Amino acid sequence: MASSSSSYTNSPCAACKFLRRKCMPDCIFAPYFPPEEPQKFANVHKIFGASNVSKLLNEVLPHQREDAVNSLAYEAEARMKDPVYGCVGAISVLQRQVIRLQKELDATNADLIRYAASSCNNLEIPIASQSGRTRTNSNMGHGGGSLGQNPGLYFSSPWNRSDSYGGDRNERGGG
Ligand SMILES: [Zn+2]
Repeated sequence: MASSSSSYTNSPCAACKFLRRKCMPDCIFAPYFPPEEPQKFANVHKIFGASNVSKLLNEVLPHQREDAVNSLAYEAEARMKDPVYGCVGAISVLQRQVIRLQKELDATNADLIRYAASSCNNLEIPIASQSGRTRTNSNMGHGGGSLGQNPGLYFSSPWNRSDSYGGDRNERGGG
Protein backbone atom coordinates (compact mmCIF):
# COMPACT_ATOMS: atom_id res chain seq x y z
CA MET A 1 0.00 0.00 0.00
CA ALA A 2 1.55 3.28 -1.06
CA SER A 3 -0.29 5.39 1.50
CA SER A 4 0.93 3.43 4.51
CA SER A 5 4.51 3.05 3.26
CA SER A 6 5.34 6.60 4.22
CA SER A 7 4.08 6.15 7.78
CA TYR A 8 6.14 3.10 8.64
CA THR A 9 9.41 4.55 7.47
CA ASN A 10 9.09 6.97 10.38
CA SER A 11 7.67 4.71 13.06
CA PRO A 12 7.97 0.93 13.30
CA CYS A 13 4.97 -1.23 12.43
CA ALA A 14 2.78 -2.46 15.27
CA ALA A 15 4.51 -5.85 15.25
CA CYS A 16 8.07 -4.51 15.47
CA LYS A 17 7.05 -1.97 18.08
CA PHE A 18 5.46 -4.69 20.16
CA LEU A 19 8.50 -6.97 19.74
CA ARG A 20 10.86 -4.03 20.36
CA ARG A 21 12.89 -4.60 17.24
CA LYS A 22 13.94 -2.48 14.29
CA CYS A 23 11.34 -2.38 11.53
CA MET A 24 13.24 -3.12 8.32
CA PRO A 25 12.02 -1.94 4.90
CA ASP A 26 11.18 -5.55 3.96
CA CYS A 27 9.36 -6.28 7.25
CA ILE A 28 6.69 -8.89 6.49
CA PHE A 29 4.34 -7.51 9.14
CA ALA A 30 4.52 -3.84 8.18
CA PRO A 31 1.90 -3.77 5.38
CA TYR A 32 -0.70 -5.56 7.55
CA PHE A 33 0.00 -4.29 11.06
CA PRO A 34 0.13 -0.49 10.88
CA PRO A 35 1.27 1.35 14.03
CA GLU A 36 -2.23 2.84 14.41
CA GLU A 37 -3.65 -0.60 15.26
CA PRO A 38 -1.43 -1.95 18.06
CA GLN A 39 -4.16 -4.19 19.49
CA LYS A 40 -4.49 -6.13 16.22
CA PHE A 41 -0.95 -7.46 16.47
CA ALA A 42 -1.12 -7.89 20.25
CA ASN A 43 -4.14 -10.21 19.86
CA VAL A 44 -2.66 -12.18 16.98
CA HIS A 45 0.68 -12.56 18.77
CA LYS A 46 -0.94 -13.71 21.99
CA ILE A 47 -3.08 -16.35 20.30
CA PHE A 48 -0.86 -17.57 17.44
CA GLY A 49 2.65 -16.27 18.23
CA ALA A 50 4.62 -13.85 16.04
CA SER A 51 6.90 -16.50 14.53
CA ASN A 52 3.97 -18.66 13.47
CA VAL A 53 2.28 -15.63 11.89
CA SER A 54 5.48 -14.73 10.06
CA LYS A 55 5.85 -18.35 8.85
CA LEU A 56 2.25 -18.42 7.71
CA LEU A 57 2.56 -15.13 5.82
CA ASN A 58 5.63 -16.42 4.01
CA GLU A 59 3.73 -19.53 2.90
CA VAL A 60 0.83 -17.49 1.49
CA LEU A 61 0.94 -15.63 -1.83
CA PRO A 62 1.43 -11.86 -1.40
CA HIS A 63 -2.01 -10.98 -2.73
CA GLN A 64 -3.61 -13.31 -0.16
CA ARG A 65 -1.67 -12.06 2.86
CA GLU A 66 -4.02 -9.25 3.79
CA ASP A 67 -6.97 -11.67 3.86
CA ALA A 68 -4.91 -14.14 5.87
CA VAL A 69 -4.02 -11.46 8.43
CA ASN A 70 -7.62 -10.28 8.68
CA SER A 71 -8.73 -13.86 9.25
CA LEU A 72 -6.08 -14.38 11.96
CA ALA A 73 -7.05 -11.09 13.60
CA TYR A 74 -10.73 -12.06 13.59
CA GLU A 75 -10.02 -15.48 15.02
CA ALA A 76 -7.63 -14.05 17.62
CA GLU A 77 -10.16 -11.45 18.78
CA ALA A 78 -12.89 -14.09 19.03
CA ARG A 79 -10.56 -16.34 21.01
CA MET A 80 -9.64 -13.48 23.38
CA LYS A 81 -13.34 -12.99 24.14
CA ASP A 82 -14.14 -16.70 24.26
CA PRO A 83 -11.00 -18.73 25.05
CA VAL A 84 -12.87 -22.04 24.84
CA TYR A 85 -14.88 -21.78 21.63
CA GLY A 86 -13.43 -18.78 19.75
CA CYS A 87 -15.08 -18.30 16.35
CA VAL A 88 -16.87 -21.63 16.68
CA GLY A 89 -19.00 -20.17 19.47
CA ALA A 90 -20.37 -17.48 17.15
CA ILE A 91 -20.73 -19.94 14.26
CA SER A 92 -22.77 -22.43 16.28
CA VAL A 93 -25.06 -19.68 17.60
CA LEU A 94 -25.69 -18.56 14.01
CA GLN A 95 -26.21 -22.14 12.81
CA ARG A 96 -28.83 -22.73 15.51
CA GLN A 97 -30.48 -19.45 14.47
CA VAL A 98 -30.54 -20.57 10.82
CA ILE A 99 -32.12 -23.92 11.78
CA ARG A 100 -34.77 -22.19 13.92
CA LEU A 101 -35.61 -19.66 11.19
CA GLN A 102 -35.69 -22.44 8.58
CA LYS A 103 -38.28 -24.34 10.64
CA GLU A 104 -40.28 -21.15 11.11
CA LEU A 105 -40.18 -20.45 7.38
CA ASP A 106 -41.11 -24.04 6.50
CA ALA A 107 -44.15 -23.83 8.78
CA THR A 108 -45.19 -20.50 7.28
CA ASN A 109 -44.80 -21.89 3.76
CA ALA A 110 -46.94 -24.86 4.76
CA ASP A 111 -49.59 -22.39 6.00
CA LEU A 112 -49.42 -20.54 2.70
CA ILE A 113 -49.98 -23.79 0.78
CA ARG A 114 -52.99 -24.62 2.94
CA TYR A 115 -54.42 -21.13 2.49
CA ALA A 116 -53.95 -21.36 -1.27
CA ALA A 117 -55.52 -24.83 -1.37
CA SER A 118 -58.51 -23.87 0.77
CA SER A 119 -59.20 -20.74 -1.26
CA CYS A 120 -59.18 -22.83 -4.45
CA ASN A 121 -61.49 -25.52 -3.06
CA ASN A 122 -64.00 -23.37 -1.22
CA LEU A 123 -63.86 -20.26 -3.41
CA GLU A 124 -63.85 -18.04 -0.35
CA ILE A 125 -61.35 -15.47 0.94
CA PRO A 126 -59.03 -17.17 3.48
CA ILE A 127 -58.72 -14.05 5.68
CA ALA A 128 -62.47 -14.01 6.28
CA SER A 129 -62.61 -17.64 7.34
CA GLN A 130 -59.60 -17.23 9.67
CA SER A 131 -60.64 -13.94 11.26
CA GLY A 132 -60.64 -15.31 14.80
CA ARG A 133 -57.10 -16.66 14.59
CA THR A 134 -54.03 -14.45 14.96
CA ARG A 135 -51.48 -17.24 14.84
CA THR A 136 -49.80 -16.06 11.66
CA ASN A 137 -49.51 -12.46 12.77
CA SER A 138 -48.15 -13.16 16.22
CA ASN A 139 -45.51 -15.38 14.66
CA MET A 140 -43.90 -12.32 13.08
CA GLY A 141 -43.02 -10.99 16.53
CA HIS A 142 -39.91 -13.04 17.24
CA GLY A 143 -36.94 -13.15 14.95
CA GLY A 144 -39.00 -12.01 12.02
CA GLY A 145 -36.74 -9.07 11.32
CA SER A 146 -33.89 -11.13 9.98
CA LEU A 147 -35.99 -13.28 7.67
CA GLY A 148 -35.72 -10.76 4.87
CA GLN A 149 -31.94 -10.88 4.62
CA ASN A 150 -31.66 -14.07 2.59
CA PRO A 151 -35.04 -14.74 1.09
CA GLY A 152 -33.62 -16.58 -1.92
CA LEU A 153 -31.79 -19.07 0.24
CA TYR A 154 -34.79 -20.56 1.93
CA PHE A 155 -37.76 -20.38 -0.38
CA SER A 156 -36.98 -23.22 -2.77
CA SER A 157 -37.08 -26.47 -0.80
CA PRO A 158 -39.90 -26.24 1.77
CA TRP A 159 -42.61 -26.56 -0.88
CA ASN A 160 -41.72 -30.19 -1.39
CA ARG A 161 -41.87 -31.00 2.32
CA SER A 162 -45.22 -29.63 3.34
CA ASP A 163 -46.50 -33.07 4.43
CA SER A 164 -44.34 -33.09 7.59
CA TYR A 165 -45.64 -29.97 9.30
CA GLY A 166 -48.93 -31.14 10.76
CA GLY A 167 -47.43 -31.40 14.24
CA ASP A 168 -45.13 -28.39 14.21
CA ARG A 169 -47.59 -25.63 13.76
CA ASN A 170 -48.64 -25.16 17.36
CA GLU A 171 -45.07 -24.98 18.66
CA ARG A 172 -43.99 -21.96 16.71
CA GLY A 173 -45.02 -19.39 19.29
CA GLY A 174 -42.57 -20.74 21.81
CA GLY A 175 -39.57 -20.02 19.61
ZN1 LIG B 1 7.88 -4.14 11.15
